[in-house]
Amino acid sequence: MMSTEAKLELRELGNTGLKVSSVGFGASPLGNVFGTVPEEEAIGSVREAFNSGINFFDTSPFYGGTLSEKVLGNSLKALGVPRNEFIVATKCGRYIEGFDFSAERVTRSIDESLARLKLDYVDILHCHDIEFGSLDQIVNETIPALQKLKEAGKIRFIGITGLPLGIFTYVLDRVPPGSVDVILSYCHYSINDSTLEDLLPYLKSKGVGVISASPLSMGLLTENGPPEWHPASQELKSACQAVAAHCKEKGKNISKLALQYSLSNKEISSVLIGMNSIRQVKENVAAALELVSVGKDEGSIREIEGILEPVKNQTWPSGIQQG
Ligand code: NAD
Repeated sequence: MMSTEAKLELRELGNTGLKVSSVGFGASPLGNVFGTVPEEEAIGSVREAFNSGINFFDTSPFYGGTLSEKVLGNSLKALGVPRNEFIVATKCGRYIEGFDFSAERVTRSIDESLARLKLDYVDILHCHDIEFGSLDQIVNETIPALQKLKEAGKIRFIGITGLPLGIFTYVLDRVPPGSVDVILSYCHYSINDSTLEDLLPYLKSKGVGVISASPLSMGLLTENGPPEWHPASQELKSACQAVAAHCKEKGKNISKLALQYSLSNKEISSVLIGMNSIRQVKENVAAALELVSVGKDEGSIREIEGILEPVKNQTWPSGIQQG
């Protein structure tokens, strides 16, 4: 049941009219990409999230080769609440088999996703990791195809996602105004890399809603450390390991501090954090509520920034060179 205690903040998402919870539920872990999650725990995590005020759920056919979408679909159905009480984003163009941003593939993709999610529409359909495709195809073929899906009522809003920040300006400078509603950036607004901040005024001027994912830098800013596939350099991994050890020694929770850092910029409508257990949902919601009532632990964040200084804003290559 909904508690009567403090609730998670809702923030406007660009010009969409959607009000998304400041903490969004990243469902990639439900595709077992960070280790196996029993379906019962997944359903329990989604329920805990919804009951704590998280109304925004993000998935993709790519996560766990469609598993994340299926498990999220089952979990949302198990909630048994009206469809307009939660906001779902999924993606197109990236699959376990590879990338395909053609109009034909993304048009077929939404029907497959809706069947797995057990939904009639999704609120947002993102083109997933567009730096791996041709950005001109995204502009000239994919977005127009998504526009048709919007007209057909299968999706409400259109987004683009990826790692290099230059992809957003490239596309947004070339599409008709208002045809891309939101962008999803990841690993660029966390303690070790905050480069998204410089792009926020531009995104605002374009009227585009901003979602930022991976506040824990895909596991770098956790006590357990990142998964084996993590693309960061050894230097960055070691620096984050040193941060985790430092926090542990000081009795501080690195993941809580990292999430609070990402949440503190209100120009970002929702921070998507990957969650795979009821415990993690509770911890992350508590971190968000503490941020509102007490504020950031500035002293600890400064100490962490000091340790990360040599690797600040270090990222990794992603995608194909456009030319
Ligand atoms: P993240 O930084 O959110 O880290 C997730 C990891 O942190 C998981 O292992 C999770 O179990 C762990 N974790 C979560 N809460 C914790 C806590 N309180 N204490 C300790 N560990 C905790 O990275 P992410 O999952 O990659 O990103 C979040 C979501 O954003 C994804 O699930 C996905 O939905 C979305 N995303 C999208 C893109 C894209 O579109 N290209 C890229 C990255 C992420």
